[in-house]
Amino acid sequence: GGRKGEEAAVAPSSGKPPVTPDSVINLDHGDPTMYEAFWRGGAGEGATIVIPGWQTMSYFSDVGSLCWFLEPGFEREVRRLHRLVGNAVTDGYHVLVGTGSTQLFQAAIYALSPPGAAAPMSVVSPAPYYSSYPAVTDYLKSGLYRWAGDAKMFDGETYIELVCSPNNPDGGVREAVLKSGAGVAVHDLAYYWPQYTPITQAAANDIMLFTVSKCTGHAGTRLGWALVKDRAVAQKMSKFIELNTIGVSKDSQLRAAKILKAITDGYERAPAAAGDDSGHLFHFARRQMVARWAALRAAVAASGIFTIPDELPGHCTFAKETVAAYPPFAWLRCEKEGVDDLEGYLREHKIITRGGGKFGADGRVVRVSMLDTDEAFAIFVGRLAAMK
Ligand code: PMP
Repeated sequence: GGRKGEEAAVAPSSGKPPVTPDSVINLDHGDPTMYEAFWRGGAGEGATIVIPGWQTMSYFSDVGSLCWFLEPGFEREVRRLHRLVGNAVTDGYHVLVGTGSTQLFQAAIYALSPPGAAAPMSVVSPAPYYSSYPAVTDYLKSGLYRWAGDAKMFDGETYIELVCSPNNPDGGVREAVLKSGAGVAVHDLAYYWPQYTPITQAAANDIMLFTVSKCTGHAGTRLGWALVKDRAVAQKMSKFIELNTIGVSKDSQLRAAKILKAITDGYERAPAAAGDDSGHLFHFARRQMVARWAALRAAVAASGIFTIPDELPGHCTFAKETVAAYPPFAWLRCEKEGVDDLEGYLREHKIITRGGGKFGADGRVVRVSMLDTDEAFAIFVGRLAAMK
């Protein structure tokens, strides 16, 4: 539209107060506000939508299809983006939509747990694992499944293994560690995008979860998608979402479709050129991640009491060059004598992080989000460098 709101141009979209040099810096959540600058630039125009009052009123999007609440335009843009990036096979897969990949994760463990089993299905993941896995698995104390901890310690034939790759919290590239014929894996590929890691192959796992939160930065849109090979599993996952929320916001799907379209269109319009990332989200985001990891490594070196994982380079089929991995979280370890609770130690320096315990690791390590605003990140590395 023609109306350019002055207020909208300056107000932070996150609702978070602006940071000052002595603010508490909260890097606990992986809130991807770093991408805001990209969407405020030229690319943002192409992602804008207007929804008239009469639209998106029905519960239904595509009556008769397996996932009847999936907007066809969203499915089309999901498939198109994967074809552009080459990070996942979509031919022969059912596409499902969820309220964040958090809902799809719950749909998956519901679908993979037989209703009449003698005991709840065991849900496992190798430590350090994403802290939401145990929390979300157990909060309703379901009789269908229960959290069974570190996959490396698990002894049993029947299980669901959550494979997060690149891994939250430590950025590791992972494959399933358990190999029993009766076990099944759910691949959480939230971070398998070119700004975080070299795209080395098109993933073709049975159940793959993705989210716009970490791909485009639109965590507030609350949209995720699943690529599911087996029809019966896809049907049960769809049933879960029907029971849980009678579908997924159409408004969000229309918006997400437009956002994904803006990304793919940006690359199709012109190939990424050195020095100009304005229409190329993954290049813009990678450049930011490169700068942030360089700043973090410099701060870690200046301090001398911390360690972080080494860079893992690989050939990226999307970037068509060898690139390092730039994980969305830093898995920061403290080597200083007496610091056994690093989360508490950093809190004394007004830096909020998430302690290793929540990921099945020890207290000398924390997870730090690398995706917050430039201002917050700069204050964080400044404080870190000064700790001796
Ligand atoms: N999986 C992983 C590994 C994540 O880190 C996150 C977000 N922190 C999610 C899933 C959930 O994302 P969403 O916003 O789509 O629910």
